[in-house]
Amino acid sequence: MDIVNPDNRLQMENKKLNREIKRLKKDNEVLRIANDQAARTQAYIQKDSMRQVFYNNQLLKTYPYLLILTDEQLQTVMISDVFFRYSDKYDREEIKRGVSIREVLTDVLPEDDLSILLEKCEAALRQEPVPPYLLRAVVAGKKIDWQITIKCMMKQDGIAGLNILFVDMTDVINAMERAEAADKAKSNFLANMSHEIRTPMNAIVGMSEFILRDSADEMAKRHATRIKSASRTLLSIINDILDFSKIESGKMELINDSYQLAHLISDVAAMLNARLQTKPVTFKTDIDGSTPNRLFGDEVRVKQILINLLGNALKFTQSGSITMTLRHEKMDGTHCRLFFTVSDTGIGIKRADLQNIFSSFTQVDTKRNRAVEGTGLGLAICRQLVAMMGGSIRVESEYGKGTAFHFDIVSAVEGWQKLSDAQTAPLEQAGTAFHVTFCAPEARALVVDDNEMNLEVAEGILEPYKIAVVKAMSGPDAIVHFAETSFDVIFMDHMMPSMDGVEAMRRIRLMKGGEEVPIVALTANALSGAAAEYKKLGFQAFLAKPIAPKSMENILRSLLPPRLIRPLEEAPQEQHAAAASASAQATGSLKDAIDEESALKYCMGNRAFLERMLATFRKNEKSKQIETFFRVRDWDNYRIVVHSLKGNALTIGALNLSEHAKELEFAARDNRIDEIMEKHGPFLKEYRALLDAIDARTKN
Ligand code: ADP
Repeated sequence: MDIVNPDNRLQMENKKLNREIKRLKKDNEVLRIANDQAARTQAYIQKDSMRQVFYNNQLLKTYPYLLILTDEQLQTVMISDVFFRYSDKYDREEIKRGVSIREVLTDVLPEDDLSILLEKCEAALRQEPVPPYLLRAVVAGKKIDWQITIKCMMKQDGIAGLNILFVDMTDVINAMERAEAADKAKSNFLANMSHEIRTPMNAIVGMSEFILRDSADEMAKRHATRIKSASRTLLSIINDILDFSKIESGKMELINDSYQLAHLISDVAAMLNARLQTKPVTFKTDIDGSTPNRLFGDEVRVKQILINLLGNALKFTQSGSITMTLRHEKMDGTHCRLFFTVSDTGIGIKRADLQNIFSSFTQVDTKRNRAVEGTGLGLAICRQLVAMMGGSIRVESEYGKGTAFHFDIVSAVEGWQKLSDAQTAPLEQAGTAFHVTFCAPEARALVVDDNEMNLEVAEGILEPYKIAVVKAMSGPDAIVHFAETSFDVIFMDHMMPSMDGVEAMRRIRLMKGGEEVPIVALTANALSGAAAEYKKLGFQAFLAKPIAPKSMENILRSLLPPRLIRPLEEAPQEQHAAAASASAQATGSLKDAIDEESALKYCMGNRAFLERMLATFRKNEKSKQIETFFRVRDWDNYRIVVHSLKGNALTIGALNLSEHAKELEFAARDNRIDEIMEKHGPFLKEYRALLDAIDARTKN
């Protein structure tokens, strides 16, 4: 049996106890550390939540917008201090305890707006989407524009409440309103400017055309040609600026109508030919003759695109050639696509510039093209117009070699008759020719304009229709005329001093027969939307000045009663002698008396116009006056009459008669009475023979 020494046992027990104590001490230390840690964490949490409260308060105090947080009962939880600017009904503590937002906002929003807001809050609580919305309120006499955003706040177990944010947009909206007002002022300015400039331009273009037609004085004609060309340039710049502003504001509209492609091409070609004379540049056309001739579209705008491209080609080509190409592709029974190319052998465009040239106000290579006029708007307008016609435009160019613009448009087709079968005047003659397609000899028109020259231009355009024209120079004047006689159509200038065209139109509408009479506004302010606006005012239509003969024709055709419209061939003989023989050739004695080629030159290559001039010449016969002044030896008036006959005779190609009138005019001027005595008899005989020849011809 083992005998254990008691001392050893004690020693062992002791060691064990010591180890236990050591372990306990260690545990104690761990516990103490853990305890410290817990205390520190608690202190931190406490401090952090105080920080959170502090920052929350700071946020609410400094937040620049009105922010309301609510619970799911729409009771306030917190609100930013901006609120107290609008209302002092509740203090911060009350709001924290919870007030319904209807109560809170009663001082801030009018009842109606508050109800709408509450409806939206309810929708947000149902988690329906509520887009931000704008609200204008007057708080304490001050206008405020708010953008209100309502968002639903979620917690783990469902909806926590709403976040309603009112952002003050007053400054932004005020700035927008100011910008809109400025934009409107700009549009008004453009409209007024266009009126102010186009009205006198109308007179200048019209009058220079009359000088060219009626004057026998070569110097005056040369000056008139320059005036006309400068006026046209100015008008085209004004038109570019107006078109561009229309496109910018999305107000550009196409005005579609029937037209003949053959006329369009010959007009465009004649325009270019007329301008080519100053340079060694030839103009060639390569037109697909099978293209349909009778189209329905905006002829004026198609022409504008072509004239712009051809005009550019001419500007940038010093020698060589310009070519216009036309191809087509049938799309269906009623539509085709037209492909135009305008190419030149001019200066070309640098590769880097090619991508910019369709941008507005862009003129490339400006150093080289310093002397070339333009606005840099033409191609931007072309691109837009082409796009509106369902096509696109592109450019190819080699710097120094030349440029080609290709564009295509979709066009409605009215008849598939081929372009090559169309009866068109030769290109070089067709430029200024406008083809009147009917007349209305029994119709009466009243033209009202405070500008005498404008009256004459309108009268000149109406003349080929044989419509009886009465001119009035003011609104009251028009009213007097209308009270006296009935009219089939009235052309009324919009802007006139004392009583404007709108007022005059309204007064006429109240008169007997005034309700039915078509009244067309004449305006130099042809901003788009004008048609609708004038209709709203009570006009049937409007015509932009300068009046385009084609537009006048369309208006007359649509507004005159059909019974008054006559084909040219059926016009009564005595009034439409010239028109009746529009396509006839000069025959017999007339052929000997007039030089048709030179007459056509004076009549802008337009045979119908020559015929009209012959009729006018016949109508204004002066033989009796000449005879009377001769008999009473009133040489002053004798000179005046033979002078005007000299011009008129030249216009119809009666060169000899014109020459003889000139001799008599000079003789009268210089008081060479013997010469007058000698030449007067034969002159009158010659004059009367010519009148007879004209009569004989129209009776054929
Ligand atoms: P602008 O009224 O100034 O002619 P456009 O928009 O019609 O304005 O043309 C813009 C620019 O494109 C012109 O200024 C010119 O630099 C260039 N350009 C247009 N057509 C031609 C061309 N046929 N040949 C060379 N450059 C051209």
